[in-house]
Amino acid sequence: MKLIILDRDGVINQDSDEFIKSPDEWIAIPGSLEAIARLNQAGYRVVVATNQSGVARGLFDIVTLNAIHQKLHSEAQRVGADIDAIFFCPHAADDNCDCRKPKPGMLHTIAKRLNVSLKGVPCVGDSLRDLQAGYGPGCVPYLVLTGKGERTREKGGLPPGTLVYPDLAGVVDALLAQPPKEAEELPSQKEGRRRNA
Ligand SMILES: [Mg+2]
Ligand SMILES: [Zn+2]
Repeated sequence: MKLIILDRDGVINQDSDEFIKSPDEWIAIPGSLEAIARLNQAGYRVVVATNQSGVARGLFDIVTLNAIHQKLHSEAQRVGADIDAIFFCPHAADDNCDCRKPKPGMLHTIAKRLNVSLKGVPCVGDSLRDLQAGYGPGCVPYLVLTGKGERTREKGGLPPGTLVYPDLAGVVDALLAQPPKEAEELPSQKEGRRRNA
């Protein structure tokens, strides 16, 4: 199977420094949901991994976060896009959890749930911590310039091999122009290592 892991705010929907606190504040970036539909048509499973520290800060609760994700799913479905699952970290930076990006905990959970290796899996984000979270476990980091992406590019220090595209649609154009790479189903890592050698 082919897998892609997406950050949410600034990749799929417009970001806000004030947090996305309600379904009304969740507004798709033009072309992002259509890009996800194209990934689905090409056989990709699309999973979201998102830091949502607004929960820990008391800006919104899990019920509201679920309502926001209902809107995401239903707007996606309207254009034929299917998001497999949304993994979120509800913690604050000083909670010292394992799931808040740049830690790779959420990505490892995704790999475990889907029983795949993260080696070579595209991981798309607009913040450095999205790329760092993916880089450690072997994902290929993709920076988009939507959301905080321009700022992230200016600050630099991106993980080696980070690919930069204007937006998610640009990432998808590039991915679909490549010969498809299957995410390796475990336990077949030996074969993967041989192929990468
Ligand atoms: Mg983001
Ligand atoms: Zn967490």
